[in-house]
Amino acid sequence: MVAAEQLGFEGMPQRLYSCTPSRLNSWLDCPRRYRMTYLERPAPQKGPPWAHNSVGASVHNALAAWWRLPQHERTVEMAGTLLLRGWLTDGFRDAEQSGRWRERAREMVERYVADLDPADEPMGVERIVATRTDRIALSGRIDRLDARGPELVVVDYKTGRRVLTDDDARSSLALALYALAASRVLRRPCRTVELHHLPTGQVAVWEHTDASLRRHLERAEQIAAEAAQADAAFKAGLPPERVDEVFPPRPGSLCAWCDYVRHCPEGRRAAPRKEPWSALAGHES
Ligand code: SF4
Repeated sequence: MVAAEQLGFEGMPQRLYSCTPSRLNSWLDCPRRYRMTYLERPAPQKGPPWAHNSVGASVHNALAAWWRLPQHERTVEMAGTLLLRGWLTDGFRDAEQSGRWRERAREMVERYVADLDPADEPMGVERIVATRTDRIALSGRIDRLDARGPELVVVDYKTGRRVLTDDDARSSLALALYALAASRVLRRPCRTVELHHLPTGQVAVWEHTDASLRRHLERAEQIAAEAAQADAAFKAGLPPERVDEVFPPRPGSLCAWCDYVRHCPEGRRAAPRKEPWSALAGHES
């Protein structure tokens, strides 16, 4: 039973559910993983770090650092230098594989930066934005927020294998929520969201309408309502036999990449465990 005070009595202001888009997506993907990620403390031990996350973080960090330089220092070579300096080595099979990927990531960053105008100052780099409705308090970090004319544009860098489509940009809950939050914080219209796929240089774009942004926000509130109820049940002290009822596992192919699969028999049966560098495989020469 969920404690009444945790749900809020009728007529009392409801407690806001504080969340990031990642937290909402985590609930949607797998409530069991959500519980281990956000609620269980001490948190269950994770699996080893992933090499593809090292690639992604190294590239994101280099691009953020590049934009923070004085304009005259934002050269193509400097982008490569920043990548090399901040290279993260976790998850690779060995030093040879890490070195090969470091070189590949350096080329990726330099190629991307070569098409940028260093004078085109973004409105924000890794900017945290936050907003609230009467149900949720939302925050998130935007890779880059561009000012194009009177409008703001949300830019999200992607470094994975899969080339992204405009439909990915359209359907992304995170990008829509970032656009809403950015527009509210900076008091400028923000409807366009972009996925910049660094390995290919392709850009997937979607221009939201007020109605499509509202639909994403309503969806976020629905997800938050479910997750908040489960959170309250957990904090009230769930008996062990009800844990899986409130936080059911969702076994599937993504279990191969789950940080908590070692604690999840259903996940281990659903997908063979990957090596920490397995996601690089399609790009290995
Ligand atoms: S292994 Fe799969 S089912 Fe288990 S917690 Fe992770 S994502 Fe959920």
